[in-house]
Amino acid sequence: MEIKVLGTVSPYCKDDKNCPGYLIRGNKTKVLLDCGNGVTRNLKLPDDLENLNIIISHLHKDHYGDLLSLAYATYVFHNLGYLQERVKVYIPEPNMYQVSEGYTDDDGWGASRLVKKPLIDYEFLQNLGEEHYFELIPYNENTKIEFEDLNISFSKNPHQVNTYSTKVVNKDKTFVYSGDTGYQGNSLVRLAEDADILLCEATFLRGQTRLTDNHLYAYEAAKIAKQANVRQLLLTHFFPEIDKELYVQEARTIFENTDAAEEGKVLKLGGIK
Ligand SMILES: [Zn+2]
Ligand SMILES: [Zn+2]
Repeated sequence: MEIKVLGTVSPYCKDDKNCPGYLIRGNKTKVLLDCGNGVTRNLKLPDDLENLNIIISHLHKDHYGDLLSLAYATYVFHNLGYLQERVKVYIPEPNMYQVSEGYTDDDGWGASRLVKKPLIDYEFLQNLGEEHYFELIPYNENTKIEFEDLNISFSKNPHQVNTYSTKVVNKDKTFVYSGDTGYQGNSLVRLAEDADILLCEATFLRGQTRLTDNHLYAYEAAKIAKQANVRQLLLTHFFPEIDKELYVQEARTIFENTDAAEEGKVLKLGGIK
């Protein structure tokens, strides 16, 4: 299993840094975890579209912003005869009845206090699939996806909308991606237990203002890595203007084997090539 880092920053792209996206390759299957703004420019098209599955951790714009770009690429490459199979896009199933505190219309589909109509919703994505070359598949925390070479499972985490962490197992190797998550009550220690790599969001540095517990400080990501007994911690989801090394330094005071994910790097389980 190989993991290519396509994007590591939020909430916007800067220079050669993109919003979150990670391409996992088994022997046959490819899985793109999140499709944030800019990740398409780090994909190799049309090759990477073949046998591609996309899993969106949650419907915040920094995690799905490049779906439009990729949808159009599938349309063009299919029409040119390069793409025979639809690209499968797994998205969190809508929770029509959830009304979170402080939100009037948070149904888990990217709505917010200010945006009364979600920018992206089921109908929009279905149209995207039909007009382009996507197949849309809703998932939840009980979903298991079993490819020939990769097994995938999920756990739900505290965040403003329905948000999932993803566990990818290839034979005896385990990779876990946090998605976005708050610290209190998150499921990562359980999901990432004894994992080879935990790719974990570290949005804030200790002392930075954090209005609500929807994201992690770097030291909290390190505490999770230590409690879960993972082999290696890779931090991601940085502010574009802040030096990644500061996040790494903070985390290493708690968990030594910590590095920062970097655009273009290919991770082998146990190390970075
Ligand atoms: Zn988010
Ligand atoms: Zn995010």
